[in-house]
Amino acid sequence: MQAALAAMAAQTILLSPSPPSQFSSSLRHPPPFLSSSTFHGSSLKLTRQSLTLSVSAATAPKPLTVVAATKKAVAVLKGTSAVEGVVTLTQEDDGPTTVKVRVTGLTPGPHGFHLHEFGDTTNGCISTGAHFNPNNLTHGAPEDEVRHAGDLGNIVANADGVAEATIVDKQIPLTGPNAVVGRALVVHELEDDLGKGGHELSLTTGNAGGRLACGVVGLTVPV
Ligand SMILES: [Zn+2]
Repeated sequence: MQAALAAMAAQTILLSPSPPSQFSSSLRHPPPFLSSSTFHGSSLKLTRQSLTLSVSAATAPKPLTVVAATKKAVAVLKGTSAVEGVVTLTQEDDGPTTVKVRVTGLTPGPHGFHLHEFGDTTNGCISTGAHFNPNNLTHGAPEDEVRHAGDLGNIVANADGVAEATIVDKQIPLTGPNAVVGRALVVHELEDDLGKGGHELSLTTGNAGGRLACGVVGLTVPV
């Protein structure tokens, strides 16, 4: 009987109308960030936006200000030959990633350029594994629907052996479940046939040949 009364009392407390304060309201309806996975790429942003929202609502009629968060990463490419390069990656919020590439020491012409699965260079560029492929698809061109996420196509070296490119791609985010930070960028010996060359390796590597230089993608100071 006592327990039942206590339960009823508890029920009464729970059901009694809450004061119309922001605090109790947010307790009964927790904002989405409290239940979202910490592995989700947008959870940080959600948290900040939610906090901004409740602070604004609670304090003042000030206009809502959402600060854009630009993430930035870099990879320094090196190998066993004279080929080397620097690649910077930037991403605003959940938008596409902009990849700026400068590689020197190449033979003139196109060279396959990919993001590989592992940021492991203990055995040189070989230990970076295969093309980053979280969706388990076959190799393709960057603009193809069926492609590895890591398929960034070719960069083209000029007569001086310098390749410069700016690539904008949606499949290589800097945060979230498919984040590319900690993986490796690789420049290859040959042209990537983008899966269309008819070679036995076309659908796995684009038949792009050896790995001339590679570098692990690491986060750097946000811009
Ligand atoms: Zn591929």
